[in-house]
Amino acid sequence: MDTAWTTEAAMAAAVVLLLSLAAWWLIQLRARRGLEHDVPSTVSVLARRRRKKLAEMMRILSMAEEIADLGLWQYYPARNEQEWSGGMKCLFGLDHDDALMEGDAETLLAANEIDLVAEVMARKGRRGVFGLRMTVQRVDGSERDIRIRACHIDQEDAHSHRVIAVLMDVTDHARRERRLKESREIALREARRARELAETDPLTGLANRRRIMAELDRLVVLVREQRQPLSLILFDVDHFKRVNDRHGHTVGDEVLRQISMIAEEQVREGDILGRIGGEEFVWVVPGADKTLAGLAAERLRLAVAMGSGVGKTTPVTISLGIAAARPGDTALGLFARADAALYDAKHAGRNTVRLAA
Ligand code: GH3
Ligand code: MG
Ligand code: MG
Repeated sequence: MDTAWTTEAAMAAAVVLLLSLAAWWLIQLRARRGLEHDVPSTVSVLARRRRKKLAEMMRILSMAEEIADLGLWQYYPARNEQEWSGGMKCLFGLDHDDALMEGDAETLLAANEIDLVAEVMARKGRRGVFGLRMTVQRVDGSERDIRIRACHIDQEDAHSHRVIAVLMDVTDHARRERRLKESREIALREARRARELAETDPLTGLANRRRIMAELDRLVVLVREQRQPLSLILFDVDHFKRVNDRHGHTVGDEVLRQISMIAEEQVREGDILGRIGGEEFVWVVPGADKTLAGLAAERLRLAVAMGSGVGKTTPVTISLGIAAARPGDTALGLFARADAALYDAKHAGRNTVRLAA
């Protein structure tokens, strides 16, 4: 940011300096014209001093241009003529003192993506300084990013109208900015990934307990403040220990993944599914009262009982407990009531759904 600001400030300062010079130059021209017509010798001495001062300012400007790595370009539309400063030549890969022959400037500009003359003339009549960007093909074939700040200087006499532009090589700055942007994007991606991992159950890819509790904390506030219905369905695999004992832990894991996939097919958008323990899952159903949640739970019970077999295993069953949120509920309170209902379902013989009181 600082570098960008410094670049802008340097270019703005250069433009101000150039405009002052242009004004100074006009005053000098007028003075010179007066002197040529028989003026007193004291005035002649003064004019000589001014010319000397002007020459000194031009020298300083040229040094400033070199130090700041800037180029100065001037264009006179009436004559279709352009003037390149030493710095401008350097930006195009020439030497500071190289002489440009007729047509050289046009040839160098034509090798580039933008037609500088057309671009600045398209902004004729525009007040103040405007900005342009171009990629310059240098004579050695390399490419440089150039930032341009330009303005039209209107004179009463249309023939004296000119365009003045300061060009700056921002290739390194642009490269740094690109790298910075890339690193920022990578950091953001990794932070997002880390957050996802911290909230995801690695076996099934469902939300983990931490994420579920955070979502519930948020949702119970909506129940309290906006009286929106919310239900929580807890479900636990029946006699899951037997699956592990008979088929091994790896097959047990596959069964858990299979159950999570079946459950994912049942949920609507906005619902949240999670695995909160070994073979214990949760289904958060915003917008559902106990009747709707009861129907959803029953659908899921049947789907698991029919489709949870993997390989040679017979399908397992699940027991489900439902709690519908009340306005004063906390996430933990709601959870505890759904858990009590699940406990009832287990005691009622498993493979069944129970509603909390
Ligand atoms: P109940 O019907 O009362 O719930 O019986 P259950 O056998 O399902 O319950 P219990 O709590 O006795 O056993 C749970 C089993 O789940 C024991 C444990 O080995 C298994 N388990 C827990 N986490 C995992 C896991 O990540 N992968 C596998 N394969 N098994 C797990
Ligand atoms: Mg179990
Ligand atoms: Mg259990």
